[in-house]
Amino acid sequence: VQEVAGKVALVTGAASGIGRAIALLLHDRGAKIIAEDINPAVEKLARPGLVPLLADITKDGAAECAVGLAIEHFGRLDVLVNNAGIIINKRVVDMSREDWERIQAVNATAAFLHCREAVKAMMPNRSGAIVNIASYASYFAFPTIAAYTASKGALAQLTRTLALEAIEHGIRVNAIGVGDVVTNILNDVVEDGPGFLAQHGEAAPIGRAAQPEEIAEIVAFLASERASFMVGSVVMADGGMTVT
Ligand code: NAD
Repeated sequence: VQEVAGKVALVTGAASGIGRAIALLLHDRGAKIIAEDINPAVEKLARPGLVPLLADITKDGAAECAVGLAIEHFGRLDVLVNNAGIIINKRVVDMSREDWERIQAVNATAAFLHCREAVKAMMPNRSGAIVNIASYASYFAFPTIAAYTASKGALAQLTRTLALEAIEHGIRVNAIGVGDVVTNILNDVVEDGPGFLAQHGEAAPIGRAAQPEEIAEIVAFLASERASFMVGSVVMADGGMTVT
């Protein structure tokens, strides 16, 4: 299926996990990619039609730079995937203001800034798609992840509100409420991050966690014209974890 062939996509957090799978899947299907990440491992993704951008998405001017790079290399921007995200495990009473602000800066504020610059670049084309990687934690709570749930709640509501503004310009904005996926996101907070996620996922009705490629497939769909009637949706992809 070549539904994203020829499109130019900016993917944040593309060095590992879900973002890496998204960048590679869209590229395999013929999209041109700017792959942005703070981790130098992103440089290893370099290949014809895929340009790595080593950058901290929270820095002033990062979003302008990333969108500018898409236009410089490929002449336009059609798709933005706000995927970069971080988590900490701390109870509210143990959480510093810096902890809180760092999580919001990456998961919510940088996504807002990338959305703003992407929409400005897409408006003259009267087309485009934004996919935000939210979480089942956008709606459901767990002890020790208040900063994360708040940031992902903000991302879901940014998605829904921006969708109403952007559709006037032919731009669709949607999000995915991702469940447990086997990645390295918990590596700084538990001993065996991927193992923890694999085990936690067993509690979902499907009985397992997802692989990153299963989320990338949904991004490809939402980014394509096949999702032409989807505006402001937060699609759950959580193996049934939140159905009951
Ligand atoms: P990951 O840690 O493998 O990937 C996240 C990427 O974001 C990393 O490459 C990291 O370097 C990058 N990043 C972090 N801060 C950055 C910054 N300031 N600037 C640029 N890049 C930065 O984790 P993942 O599981 O693939 O996470 C991807 C997204 O999926 C996140 O938004 C996460 O919240 C979301 N998510 C993951 C799960 C899960 O179970 N893995 C569940 C729900 C939602």
